[in-house]
Amino acid sequence: MDTTVIIGNGVAGTNAAATLRKNGYEGAIMLIGEEVALPYQRPPLSKTWLLGPDRPHPTPIRPLSFFEDNRIELMRARKVVSIDRNEQRIRFSDGKTTKFDTLILATGASPRRLDLQGVDLKGIHYLRDLGDSAGLRQALTGPDCRDVVIIGAGVIGLEVASAAVDLGKTVTVIEAAARAMARVASPATTNFVTQKLTDTGVQFLFNKKIEGFGAANHRVSSVNLGDGAEVKADLVLAGIGATPNVELAEAAGLECDNGICVDQDMRTSDPKIFAIGDCARGDNKFAPGKLRIETVHNATTQAQIAAAAICNKERPAPVPPRFWSDLKDMKVQAVGIAVGYDLVQSDASQHPPSLEVHLKSGDRLVAAEIVNLPNRQGALMKAISPIVSTDAQ
Ligand SMILES: Cc1cc2nc3c(=O)[nH]c(=O)nc-3n(C[C@H](O)[C@H](O)[C@H](O)COP(=O)(O)OP(=O)(O)OC[C@H]3O[C@@H](n4cnc5c(N)ncnc54)[C@H](O)[C@@H]3O)c2cc1C
Repeated sequence: MDTTVIIGNGVAGTNAAATLRKNGYEGAIMLIGEEVALPYQRPPLSKTWLLGPDRPHPTPIRPLSFFEDNRIELMRARKVVSIDRNEQRIRFSDGKTTKFDTLILATGASPRRLDLQGVDLKGIHYLRDLGDSAGLRQALTGPDCRDVVIIGAGVIGLEVASAAVDLGKTVTVIEAAARAMARVASPATTNFVTQKLTDTGVQFLFNKKIEGFGAANHRVSSVNLGDGAEVKADLVLAGIGATPNVELAEAAGLECDNGICVDQDMRTSDPKIFAIGDCARGDNKFAPGKLRIETVHNATTQAQIAAAAICNKERPAPVPPRFWSDLKDMKVQAVGIAVGYDLVQSDASQHPPSLEVHLKSGDRLVAAEIVNLPNRQGALMKAISPIVSTDAQ
């Protein structure tokens, strides 16, 4: 029987398995992940789950019965250490091996690590998985945590800053760039969001270089800046981006360049091997150049594309990328990719706070961002069209 092996049981891998079955794939499906938990959604890890132990556990992507009912062999707490492309075989850390006809790499990404003096001090946290979030929550809600410093004003950094303010902490966000969320949103939106967070008590320090950390009793006590300033810290979260988990792919000789390189069907440089989700980089119909996108929507969409190719089905119609974030009382949503625009139209309201930003190139709507206007998302998705006609492919 034909076997598809999926390495990584996050949202990309789990959706690939589910879509293969939905498409009528009859072969065996093996879904492998090194984490112990039933595959779960990561978004709550930097949001509600941080607020206290009484919060509901992050939702499983599918209940256990789903895997049984759909003949998906879910393997948890199993790490794959190598891929033999000639033999079409993967090897687990315990030395066992298994054969594949088709392989999907859905290995995700890992938090980028700080490379500074003092990085191993207690009290410095990173955030990617359930264990990281549980550790961060315990530290944040502990009696000795008053001053919280977030390094990096990206989406995850701002979400943790929001949660820390809700928990009554003194919060400072230190960012090397001139503004927050610079990689994913326009200045119009990030300035709006930054002002609202400042109003709730978050202090932002932009254009700052970090030199290292001060310590007391082997714990972090301050973040030391390049200009000589010291910011008091009982807890530090480093939210400075993520790097794709490409080690298996690289060692197997697959083409990689800030992600595993894929074509429009999510095939890697080996036609029997696909890559999807945070680890994959390729063309996107909504922006020029190669992109690696780290969102739930992207992981789900790419899973559907790969599953269609494996089942010889028509590729799903392109849909604009989108993401959301919850920051204090703001639901921030973005559709499209905020690059290559030359005109910004924005409409803001202060009480209650809401914002709609259109990013245009000539007459074409490239991307749109909204705050507290969830009903607008559907219309904006329809208004954004791919840059290349799909007929041309
Ligand atoms: C804290 C946090 C909050 C987020 N919030 C949002 C949000 O609000 N909105 C949004 O759109 N996106 C959000 N994201 C991003 C989103 O969660 C990711 O884009 C998505 O999880 C990517 O899915 P994935 O399956 O590609 O990777 P992952 O979810 O990282 O899954 C990959 C899995 O593969 C496993 N794995 C890797 N290598 C191996 C191996 N060799 N053997 C076995 N298993 C392996 C990993 O352990 C991991 O479980 C957030 C991410 C984080 C970390």
